[in-house]
Amino acid sequence: MRTKIIFSDKCLEYGTRWHTEGLERVEIAAKILKERGYEFLKPEPASEKNILSVHEAHYIEEIKRGQIGDLDTPAYENIYEYAGLAAGGAILAAKTKGFSLMRPPGHHAGRSGPALGVQTKGFCYLNNIAIAVKYLGKLTLILDIDGHHGNGTEEIFSGNANVIYLSLHRYPYYPGTGFESKGNCFNFPLEAECGEEVYLKTLENALRKIDLGKIEVVAVSAGFDGHRGDLASLGLTEKSFWEIGKQIAKLQKPTFFVLEGGYIGENVGKDIDGLLKGLKIA
Ligand SMILES: [Zn+2]
Repeated sequence: MRTKIIFSDKCLEYGTRWHTEGLERVEIAAKILKERGYEFLKPEPASEKNILSVHEAHYIEEIKRGQIGDLDTPAYENIYEYAGLAAGGAILAAKTKGFSLMRPPGHHAGRSGPALGVQTKGFCYLNNIAIAVKYLGKLTLILDIDGHHGNGTEEIFSGNANVIYLSLHRYPYYPGTGFESKGNCFNFPLEAECGEEVYLKTLENALRKIDLGKIEVVAVSAGFDGHRGDLASLGLTEKSFWEIGKQIAKLQKPTFFVLEGGYIGENVGKDIDGLLKGLKIA
């Protein structure tokens, strides 16, 4: 069965044209995926109970009141509603083994905002994938293929026996974390523009090294800013994401995907299609 895309036009309603995390990146990606025949599902907002499973109550109040601005992550009007809907998209992806194409992204958001001593929240308000993983409550591998380290996700799940966090990312680079592995968090820093061969080999070795025997679900923090020319370029292409999909398929676990970064809409759409096709072919 083809993976369904979780999406609502509502996530195009906030933001400004000048911001890197703009609406075109998902608007164009959604158009490409519709043209390629994907079925779309509409999410409901995550409940406050679901959000509280990850974030501190005072932080949730701050988002509601708009006391959250940093230069990267502005206090847009009604941003709590948009962030809650993106978190709901992640939950629906978890329920349906789908792909949430919602914005804003989430993996830099920690329990109460900036995570692991990082100054900004990197376009993230609520940690969508963490909320979905907590919702499922299963033994989960979070595979973070965004070009940046998911410092928020690592902070939230560090020491959690139910979750393995595995991230490949550009380093040294924003957010500056993820240089080494610790406990249940496995980090693989990569040089800028390292290219597909190095990336795929690193991923293959990482997945082989980690004991996935008890893992019930794979949750993919699906970021595409490692694509050549994007914000955290690792020199990857559409074909690279197809190969990544094939490696994920070999794990033979129920899998869902949550959009993180990726700022060139046309690439995001094509990369998602490649990733999901790879998943079905292996
Ligand atoms: Zn990123």
